[in-house]
Amino acid sequence: MDAPATRTTCPYCGVGCGVLVARNADGTVTVRGDTEHPANFGRLCSKGSALGETVGFEDRLLAPQINGRRANWNEALDLVAATFSRTIAEHGPDSVAFYVSGQLLNEDYYVANKLMKGFIGSANIDTNSRLCMASSVAGHRRAFGADTVPGTYEDLELGDLVVLVGSNLAWCHPVLYQRIAAAKQKRPQMRIVLIDPRRTMTADIADIHLAVRPDGDVALFTGLLAWLADHDALDRAFIAAHTNGFDDAVAVAKALSLDEIADQTGVPADELRAFYTLFAHTEKAVTVYSQGVNQSSAGTDKVNAIINCHLATGRIGKPGTGPFSVTGQPNAMGGREVGGLANMLAAHMEIENPEHRDRVQRFWGAPRIASQAGLKAVEMFRAVAGGRVKAIWIMGTNPVVSMPEVGLVEAALKTCPFVVVSDVVSETDTLRLAHIKLPAAAWGEKDGTVTNSERRVSRQRPFLPSPGEARPDWEIVCDVAQRMGFGKAFSYASAAEIFAEHAALSAFENEGTRDFDIGAYAGLDIAQFEKLAPFQWPSPSGQARQRSRFFADGQFFTADSKARFVATLPKPETRTSDAYPLVLNTGRVRDHWHTMTRTGRSPRLSQHLAEPFAEIHPRDARRLGICDADIACLSIGAGSVLVRAFITPTQARGSVFVPMHWNGQFASAARINCVVPSTTDAVSGQPAFKHVPVQLSRFDAA
Ligand code: SF4
Repeated sequence: MDAPATRTTCPYCGVGCGVLVARNADGTVTVRGDTEHPANFGRLCSKGSALGETVGFEDRLLAPQINGRRANWNEALDLVAATFSRTIAEHGPDSVAFYVSGQLLNEDYYVANKLMKGFIGSANIDTNSRLCMASSVAGHRRAFGADTVPGTYEDLELGDLVVLVGSNLAWCHPVLYQRIAAAKQKRPQMRIVLIDPRRTMTADIADIHLAVRPDGDVALFTGLLAWLADHDALDRAFIAAHTNGFDDAVAVAKALSLDEIADQTGVPADELRAFYTLFAHTEKAVTVYSQGVNQSSAGTDKVNAIINCHLATGRIGKPGTGPFSVTGQPNAMGGREVGGLANMLAAHMEIENPEHRDRVQRFWGAPRIASQAGLKAVEMFRAVAGGRVKAIWIMGTNPVVSMPEVGLVEAALKTCPFVVVSDVVSETDTLRLAHIKLPAAAWGEKDGTVTNSERRVSRQRPFLPSPGEARPDWEIVCDVAQRMGFGKAFSYASAAEIFAEHAALSAFENEGTRDFDIGAYAGLDIAQFEKLAPFQWPSPSGQARQRSRFFADGQFFTADSKARFVATLPKPETRTSDAYPLVLNTGRVRDHWHTMTRTGRSPRLSQHLAEPFAEIHPRDARRLGICDADIACLSIGAGSVLVRAFITPTQARGSVFVPMHWNGQFASAARINCVVPSTTDAVSGQPAFKHVPVQLSRFDAA
């Protein structure tokens, strides 16, 4: 490296790896893993290693645009503020909405949330993280009383049994996979169980792979709870002292026999027995879960079915134990902290709680505060389509590719009277529909913080100037807020000032009350921002009770401090039919990220899997007359996509897997969400991307 390295954080997945970046004399950028960062200790995956190839200035949005015409910032910001203000005056606060992103930094998120909930007075702000972890948030709140991940990455190495549920960690959280694989090499007695309909690369380190039927997880873990109760494998003292609802949950669980669970999960009874026995006899057990659990119409129940088993055995809050949700996006966790979800307030407070609303309003000095939850992602675009939302601002995300039912999202934005999109790139499927385009600063140009899946807050630091007129998202939001007449509350000079305000609110939330005292950022201030080393909340400087794990003391965030069991029973799933006989499951590939607006720029990353494809089991392919490398057509109703057939026995019979990444620029007929309806989990509002009955046929161009 030619210049001193900048210490920052990878902008891709929720592992949140530390990276060291240096600018070279020839203008290129060199990236290596930060050996001192506790998330990765120097490791990087293929995406992180290729970050230097994706920071060029080509394809960037360089100046604001109004209806396709280049504009200056004043003109664009005046128009955004005036149109939002007029719409609110004519139709009320709920006629406007912000759709934000897990790519935003905590400080960006914080001010967008503050503007919408405290000053506009609506809770119509939701994040694309709704698509990746809302069910975990809802499950945590039901069980623990607050959205708190109990454990740490270290627990995944310390566990004697690591259960991976609906998670292709090898491709989607590669550095965590590397850490578990290395731990297993050191301790060969460690057992790894993979529960996934697909035999993914992650199965390479698994001792047992349970090929559960899509959405069979509730039955599988409800059966485990009954097994633990029947085989004297409970921590009765923990249950009695620290939980409520155990008897009801077990009574419901015992309604299913092992044979019925085998039938519902598709896992033979002897394999279930082997897994249940292993779990019952392994004290240090950790259960890691991801989108296969969250992205389901029963996502929240799946989360609680898993948590129930850990509460029943008291395996939570101790080294090597616990339920552990891994988030998809780099700052999905940060969005949960600052109120990026339509049903939350900043500093983990709840919008439905009048006391929390009062605290936040007083702290902000806000003229009003939203009094009820706003529109969640799917509801938001439906409201745009129906004309209830008349002005929307989309920040750093591409919903015309990533949302379910993208046809509806596209049609909604085409008819919406006012669409603002701020983004770093000059063209996405969503930007094409914007009346106002605002150029945002990208990774490497922005200053702030992000939070990873283990609650670890790390700095993102700039090492490049922004090209053209691009600006940080927080500055753009604050400039609009000032033009809407909320100047004083949005007059920050830096991201550090916003960080300090959020930290102060995090301390303010304590106020001596028992019902809520996470104090995630308590005690931190502006002076600590610059040199901030990665830390796990609750903030070590804010309290005497520094801890990297929650709940070891059996104290939860409910009114009586006890955790809650949630009785779960499998619900009838969306059935296949003669018309739609296969189940579609969508997900990520190793080397691409979301809608490829960044990784699509790296030839090296595109070499791994160069085009969209459908993984099909050989027997399904034979029955349908589809050969390897044929073009396959997936359809549902009027929607269809065309992708290359990839015939593989790793795919379960009766199902098909298609990656989520390809957008209209790379493969116009391959936006897989054209065939994914907007079915959501009733509790969390998270869309079900993993269980879509579809029709599959060979595409015949003639
Ligand atoms: Fe980046 Fe995730 Fe890879 Fe780490 S594991 S380098 S955070 S993409």
